[in-house]
Amino acid sequence: MIKNISVLKFGGSSVKSIGRIQHVCEIIEKRRREGPVLVVVSAMGDTTDYLVKLANQASKNPDKRELDLLLSTGEQISITLVALVLRNMGIKARSFTAYQVGIFTESVYSKARIIDVKTETIQTAFAENEVVVVAGFQGVTENGEITTLGRGGSDTTAVALAAAVGATTCDIYTDVDGIYTADPNLIKGAHRLERVSYEEVVEMARLGAQVIHPRAVELARQYKVVLRVRNTFKPNDEGTAIDGGDNMEIYRTVSGVAVDKEQATVAIMDVPDRPGIAGKIMQAVADKNIVIDMIMQAFHPKLGLNNISFTVAQADLDQTISVLNDLQKELGASEVEADPDIAKVSLIGAGMVHQPGIAAQLFTILGEAGVNIKMIATSEMKLTCVVSRADADKAAQAIHDAFQSDNTQH
Ligand code: ASP
Ligand code: MG
Repeated sequence: MIKNISVLKFGGSSVKSIGRIQHVCEIIEKRRREGPVLVVVSAMGDTTDYLVKLANQASKNPDKRELDLLLSTGEQISITLVALVLRNMGIKARSFTAYQVGIFTESVYSKARIIDVKTETIQTAFAENEVVVVAGFQGVTENGEITTLGRGGSDTTAVALAAAVGATTCDIYTDVDGIYTADPNLIKGAHRLERVSYEEVVEMARLGAQVIHPRAVELARQYKVVLRVRNTFKPNDEGTAIDGGDNMEIYRTVSGVAVDKEQATVAIMDVPDRPGIAGKIMQAVADKNIVIDMIMQAFHPKLGLNNISFTVAQADLDQTISVLNDLQKELGASEVEADPDIAKVSLIGAGMVHQPGIAAQLFTILGEAGVNIKMIATSEMKLTCVVSRADADKAAQAIHDAFQSDNTQH
């Protein structure tokens, strides 16, 4: 196997125009001096959104097979243009679709998972000294059907290819400087992390930070590929390294604060305190493919009744309420309550697990900021509070300010 391969992924904004592609090709040219380069690109700018829009104009409910075949064309445009510009610069280069490389996925449209990646085509191109440019986001089933990996899926393609060719790092070039401690547009003092662990980034991404696709991070963790999130327009900056996080907790307890305003809570009140009741409620919701996150049960000892509350994505709220309304009679519940105006504010850090005082500290900070906590959930590296949406930014800022000064290093 060829050693020292650089895998570079460029997002849509980095290849938005021929001018930007030229800039990207200069980055590629520099890296090529260090060894073979494998490039993965997204569709140009908002091309994928535009294609989705066209499909929706053509059909009320576009067929998924046709939609995937349509969406995959965006990346086919950008790979060829990158290869053409490279050739124009006198650099040997060849572009490939996922079909040509052999990026095999399961037979699921619109969110297929990768099963197997062939490397023969890539190795042959490397042997001929070519820069290899591969279309992100797309795959092929064993029957030759074209699939897509889900929106934002080019990151996942890049990591899967890096793992397949034995690269130890994968550079994700985007239009921000890296992974931040919080959304810099929202929180004063938010700053770039030099290094962060896979687990922390997966949590941040789940909680609304949109820099990198969570599936790509999971895959990188599995195959021990170090990710570097970097700004295409500041090619000399190091960005953020995402790795296994060894020794990270020694100097940092908290890595970030995330705010998710797209959530709602629902509660079913006064259900009997009997085994099986919670299972029945959760199953009814799960049957509708609705993901439940935080769950809270409050017991009235005198009445022998429970209130069971949980959070769902706002988009699923109406459906959740109707599922619970259907159950209300059967379970003898008194009512179903919903609160659409909430937000989840989370503190994330791999080092939190060894810090017993963190929860107390967090609640004190929120108390001093005058923020009422509606629900709480903890896990090894995350502490989440549900607060009213109007308080979310204030809460996040207060938490960020407090833990910021605790961190001695980035
Ligand atoms: N072009 C696809 C999208 O916009 C895939 C990607 O950008 O990663 O979702
Ligand atoms: Mg994109």
